Amino acid sequence: DQGRAKAPVATDRPAHVRRVLAVASGKGGVGKSTVAVNLAAALAARGLSVGILDADVYGPSLPTMLGISGQPAYEDGAIVPHVAHGLKAMSVGLLTKMDDAMIWRGPMASQAITQMLTQTRWGTAEAPLDVLVVDLPPGTGDVQLTLIQKTPLDGAVIVSTPQEVALADARRAHTLFQRVNVPTLGLIENMSGPVFGQGGAKAEAERLSIPFLGDLPLDAALREGGDAGRPPVAVDPDGDVAARFATVAERV
Ligand code: ADP
Repeated sequence: DQGRAKAPVATDRPAHVRRVLAVASGKGGVGKSTVAVNLAAALAARGLSVGILDADVYGPSLPTMLGISGQPAYEDGAIVPHVAHGLKAMSVGLLTKMDDAMIWRGPMASQAITQMLTQTRWGTAEAPLDVLVVDLPPGTGDVQLTLIQKTPLDGAVIVSTPQEVALADARRAHTLFQRVNVPTLGLIENMSGPVFGQGGAKAEAERLSIPFLGDLPLDAALREGGDAGRPPVAVDPDGDVAARFATVAERV
């Protein structure tokens, strides 16, 4: 029940991480993971050291999107993250069978995520990580609430497609972040264009008084890059997608 959502409970900050940014969506399938991965790559292109944590217990897609597999190594009691396209990466999908993760309830999911957050060697005292991008599970239910209460988030980016049904859920996601005092850094419109419409997220951002961070068209290259473990921002830094994400990276 969102009405009873409270301010954050105890949070464990990951060691040697300067900033933790969430990428969220009210609905599944709107391109949240695509945005998380490409935003992470765009932040890295700005010269920052960047990690990405796939906390999407319902459908961890980071291993596919970055082309990584296999359990991570452990060293001195810490998880050593995979590194792909210059990003340190950790996913709930690398630790467990997907079917197991999907039936996790809030407390279990949040415990697993807290572990990945705090036990992964994201940075060191000498070389702290500048930004950790957290790809949250879609939705605004109990699992998401528990997670955002327990995860020390410095800000959230919300992804939506342009249709009203998706925007209504994006609005709920914003409300959830407000309740736990996590600033919404802005709204991104994905799959913008003739199929789903255009401009809905910009209007919604104005209504909510949050920044509009830009739009991404439906683009076969984005889907193909995602399926092949080759995020366009990382593999085609001079392309249109990279230019769009550069603007977003500048503003978060
Ligand atoms: P979510 O994380 O919200 O569930 P994903 O990022 O996994 O969504 O995207 C769902 C599917 O849509 C993936 O196959 C992805 O490659 C594709 N996709 C996402 N954004 C776009 C886009 N702008 N153009 C084309 N395909 C996209």
